[in-house]
Amino acid sequence: MTTRLADKTDWNTVVEWDKKYRMHVEFTDEEYQSIPIARAEGDYLITPDGTRLLDCLNQLICVNAGQAQPKIQQAIRDATERYGFLWEYFTTDYNARASKLLIEDILGPYDWAGKVGYTNSGSESVEMALMLARVIKNRPMVVTREHAYHGWTMGAAGANRLRGLRGGLSSSAQGGEFRPVPGSPFGGYLLAPAPDCFDCSLGYTYPDCKSACGGKLPCVLMTERLIECWGVEQIAAMITEPIFGASSFFPPPEYLQQLVNFLHANDILWICDEVLVGFGRMGTWFAHQLPEFGVLKPDLMTMAKGIVSSALPAGAVAISKELAEIMGNYRWMHVATFAAHPLAMAAVCANLELMIEKDGPGCARKAGEYLAGKFKELEAKHKTVGMVTGSGVLWTVELVKNKKTKERFCPQDRVLDYTGDLSKLPTRIIGAKCMEKNVILTGFTPNALRIGFSLFVTKEDMDKAIDALDYALTYLDTLA
Ligand code: PMP
Repeated sequence: MTTRLADKTDWNTVVEWDKKYRMHVEFTDEEYQSIPIARAEGDYLITPDGTRLLDCLNQLICVNAGQAQPKIQQAIRDATERYGFLWEYFTTDYNARASKLLIEDILGPYDWAGKVGYTNSGSESVEMALMLARVIKNRPMVVTREHAYHGWTMGAAGANRLRGLRGGLSSSAQGGEFRPVPGSPFGGYLLAPAPDCFDCSLGYTYPDCKSACGGKLPCVLMTERLIECWGVEQIAAMITEPIFGASSFFPPPEYLQQLVNFLHANDILWICDEVLVGFGRMGTWFAHQLPEFGVLKPDLMTMAKGIVSSALPAGAVAISKELAEIMGNYRWMHVATFAAHPLAMAAVCANLELMIEKDGPGCARKAGEYLAGKFKELEAKHKTVGMVTGSGVLWTVELVKNKKTKERFCPQDRVLDYTGDLSKLPTRIIGAKCMEKNVILTGFTPNALRIGFSLFVTKEDMDKAIDALDYALTYLDTLA
């Protein structure tokens, strides 16, 4: 459907200014093409000529309640009537209510969270969690994992092991230069194996791998050995996402329980990074609460994106009751000007209340049950679909040249440096074909599609996405 919007903006001039003056990510100036968007609503972006694009990346998997939710917009308007700015030292009904909603209403039943602190982004939340873990334990090291993504700021990016996503410069020339930020990834981290059962770097196959190690997963055993070799007394924390968000895969169900048991038995804190997978996305409030993972209690939990459905910049770190007690005995000499900004906190309150009222996690769970069947059909039909995993409104489709051997289109996969011609990457090919159907659907890594919707996505829109993907996979099959 295309209907021209009543809009006086001169979009040709907008595009000219955009190309001339704005720094762009992921493309050279020569490659870059503006995608002007005049409005957004629900799961759609609307271009100046009225074309409606179905956004199956949910931007950066972050608009959990959907675009332009009236309740959130109204709360922001109301807050602008009352406040300009207050820093977090002062109490507002917004910063107090947001904290009560998070700690009591949402996390209360899980009986671990004590207090919450605020930031402006996921990266800052990770920075805060890393800083708190180190200062509370008075130990320098943190354990991270292969393929991890935890943000762009120096401390958080130090934990990243997605090689191409640490702020470096990649040439578009074939065989051209890849220039990482000198010194990155910055130090203070131990590297543990990822629980990637599609492509295990220890060479095992799940679930047979468990019988080789007396019931323990080899990736957990290896992590234990690495930590013990370094010395537990030097390790403050291990940071993990419950499900790999940017690098797009699920751990086996036993993994987190086995890992966290070891960490807690050795007095090491668990930082659970829920920035991308939290707030209903997987069909539970937080991804670590998925029933197959058992009962898990983080020591620190990082949040952003879904906490405010990205209507304004906001992030947070929840800490356990034990850590809250320790912190309460000290003066925490920390200042961040925009933390708990009243407008952002008003938006957080409205967003969380909306999710509670409309049972956002339940809606996502139902959507996920529907999507599971649809993805199974695509997996059976297309020879380039190696594996589909997901839950709620977050799914991964691993694209392969050969299902049996799992040969990938892009052998470098998650260690790609993003130099040269990227148009032949399977996720880019699928992206271009889906765009023919006005559907935005691609991936953050070369071979894995990352598919996400709002928690309240309609059946009609899920069908539209699946039809576009079916069309795109039919083309990809001809290239295998
Ligand atoms: N942690 C995880 C798991 C993320 O996926 C991201 C961003 N995608 C971040 C941290 C950083 O968040 P931000 O981009 O808001 O700084």
